[in-house]
Amino acid sequence: MKKAVVTGGSGGIGSAICRALAENGYYVYVGYASSAEKAALLAAEIGGESLEIDVSDVKSIDAACEKMGAVNLLVNNAGISEIDLFTAISEEKSSNIINVNLVGAMELTRKLLPSMIREKSGCIINISSMWGEVGASCEVDYSASKAGIIGFTKALAKEVAPSGIRVNCISPGFIMTEMNSRFSVEDLELIREEIPLGIFGEPRHIADAVVFLASEKAEYITGQIIGVNGGMVV
Ligand code: NAP
Repeated sequence: MKKAVVTGGSGGIGSAICRALAENGYYVYVGYASSAEKAALLAAEIGGESLEIDVSDVKSIDAACEKMGAVNLLVNNAGISEIDLFTAISEEKSSNIINVNLVGAMELTRKLLPSMIREKSGCIINISSMWGEVGASCEVDYSASKAGIIGFTKALAKEVAPSGIRVNCISPGFIMTEMNSRFSVEDLELIREEIPLGIFGEPRHIADAVVFLASEKAEYITGQIIGVNGGMVV
């Protein structure tokens, strides 16, 4: 059975990805940082395993990698955001965003790659954001971290393609999860008007793209940034 690990598997998009991968035959490690109970419930539901992977903590990454051994699919999905002016955001919050969203994904990938290289097979899917493509006012640190994920995807895809490993990135638009719970009903309506398809994204839209990119149907696709955004960024 193929093994997959999803960081932030306890969250809105992550849990949809875990469910979809399990439905498609994967044994799934549901990664979490603080939501142990949510991850355990989901793992029990899908016949996988919950696993603490705090991507901002190298010790947590190392312990998780030792437990998992080799995996066939890595989904770097964990992410945090903060809305504030660039000059107002604290140094601590800023480095936390970069560490969780970018450095953490890179470090976990660095640890899991050697076994994929030995096997000459593997798939890595990074979750960026449309703001990493076009930038968002009041989310400068977040946008920078997500732009970093795009550069990381492209460069790593070139480096590991000769080893039979594909690296791709999904760039979600506005997806209804806890991350967007801070917006008022009025703000949400204004945002919805900006979406050409006229509806908010759902976690399953991202999960479907992950399943496709992980499948043999995407065997000739690597280094790509796939927008799943209802047409908001074209
Ligand atoms: P969410 O529901 O808030 O989930 C965030 C997840 O990240 C949680 O599972 C959380 O785990 C995990 N996480 C936070 N800090 C972590 C850390 N230090 N180490 C490991 N995991 C950590 O958010 P979401 O909407 O599902 O977002 C998932 C991904 O999609 C993120 O990368 C986000 O930037 C991206 N994205 C979302 C949207 C959107 O509109 N929702 C748009 C574009 C991109 P715990 O709860 O266990 O701490």
